[in-house]
Amino acid sequence: MSPASPLPHDVAVAGGGPAGCAAAIALARRGRRVALYERDAFPRFHIGESLLACANGCFEELGIAELVRAQGFPEKWGASLLTHDGAAGRPVDFSSSAEVPRPQTYQVCRGKFDQLLLDRARAAGVEVFERTRVEDCDFGADGVTLRVAGAAGRREVRASALVDATGRAGLVARKLDLRRDEPRLANVAIYAHFAGVPRLPDNRSGDIRIVARADAGWFWLIPIDERLTSVGVVLPTTLYQRLERGDPEAMLAAAIADTPAVAELMAAARREWPVRVEKDFSYGATRYAGDRWLLVGDAGAFLDPVFSSGVSIALESGLEAARELDRALAAGDLSAARFRRFERVQRRRFAVFRRFVLAFYTPWFRDLFFQPAAPPRLFRAVVTVLAGHWRPSLSTRLLIEVFFLAVALQRRLRLVEPLVRRDEAAGYPLPAAAPGRPR
Ligand SMILES: Cc1cc2nc3c(=O)[nH]c(=O)nc-3n(C[C@H](O)[C@H](O)[C@H](O)COP(=O)(O)OP(=O)(O)OC[C@H]3O[C@@H](n4cnc5c(N)ncnc54)[C@H](O)[C@@H]3O)c2cc1C
Repeated sequence: MSPASPLPHDVAVAGGGPAGCAAAIALARRGRRVALYERDAFPRFHIGESLLACANGCFEELGIAELVRAQGFPEKWGASLLTHDGAAGRPVDFSSSAEVPRPQTYQVCRGKFDQLLLDRARAAGVEVFERTRVEDCDFGADGVTLRVAGAAGRREVRASALVDATGRAGLVARKLDLRRDEPRLANVAIYAHFAGVPRLPDNRSGDIRIVARADAGWFWLIPIDERLTSVGVVLPTTLYQRLERGDPEAMLAAAIADTPAVAELMAAARREWPVRVEKDFSYGATRYAGDRWLLVGDAGAFLDPVFSSGVSIALESGLEAARELDRALAAGDLSAARFRRFERVQRRRFAVFRRFVLAFYTPWFRDLFFQPAAPPRLFRAVVTVLAGHWRPSLSTRLLIEVFFLAVALQRRLRLVEPLVRRDEAAGYPLPAAAPGRPR
């Protein structure tokens, strides 16, 4: 298949979040003609505020590391883990792993962060159309046709290839029926921004706090600027359905009140944003690329936010798509066969994080993960992956297998004193959620 070079654009990008902007900037920096269509007007609210250390590599590649640093986003060095009553917990320190080259990352207000990326795309030469929705797309032998709707009405636009970065809206995945839900991660998030939430001391003041509830739910507390903290609870749907139904404010307040460690931190908090409720069901895709199209970020796969992997994976996959497309355009071949490596990487990374996320929704994983006395070498190996370095050294991979073996043994033999409840009312998904090795 030959790319239709007379077309006005080499690549059309649908969606201007982190995945779409990363792909668009990287392609434009390689001299490709790129058009990006974004449904909303920026800045706009978006959830997904905590980054992983691996995002630093993406910022370098996009040429924006200094720009991001200059924004004064809260510095994140890791996490603080706490059980529901604050009786147990431990720090997660990205700098504890020698395999994490740049351990300090950021918490970001997504309105500001996404605007920065979109502005950067414009500056790199991308033609950006805000308030312009991609309604449909068709793939032909000589190019892609998009139907877009914006202030000037509806029109058709043509490009050689499409990067679908429409997030959970999933333009191509829905059209081609590629999306596969992960039933064991059918969760609901309730969240808002608050002032007056105390921070951790010293240089850890920007870290995320992750608090395990007494049931299978958990809280995040993320400092997103000097004043505001994003606070949210994630509950498996079964537990969410058991909550006394009131308005979202009442539901969030009730969840805070019956999680003592969070209630204490929120004692003097003032809510500054409306409470939002969002289904955050996880999913993957049966394919991540085809003739003339690639899925990046949430448009391809989404995982429960417990390990804050979404934005960092979105940036990485956008960069990977740009590299593959640039090569494919140069070779004059945009067929699915060109994108096999891209497919493999998306599947592998998803499997690595999915294994951790599924394990998090088992009590035996939490017993070990929140354990202050976890063996340091094992924990460092886990932290390497949770910092986003999901292709670690062989020795780290082996240590991770030992960690998951310990999790399996905890289920049967109780290696350590249980930290969390495991009765049916705690609402953990079925034991089938026990972790298996990613393939
Ligand atoms: C409750 C919750 C908490 C989370 N917490 C974290 C966290 O702490 N850290 C983290 O890294 N991630 C987190 N995430 C995940 C994170 O939000 C996403 O993974 C991330 O935003 C994905 O980026 P993206 O660019 O793929 O998609 P998005 O950021 O969703 O961007 C997609 C863009 O496409 C646009 N769009 C959609 N449809 C169309 C269309 N048809 N035409 C044109 N434009 C379109 C949208 O307006 C949007 O701007 C969380 C998610 C949830 C639900």
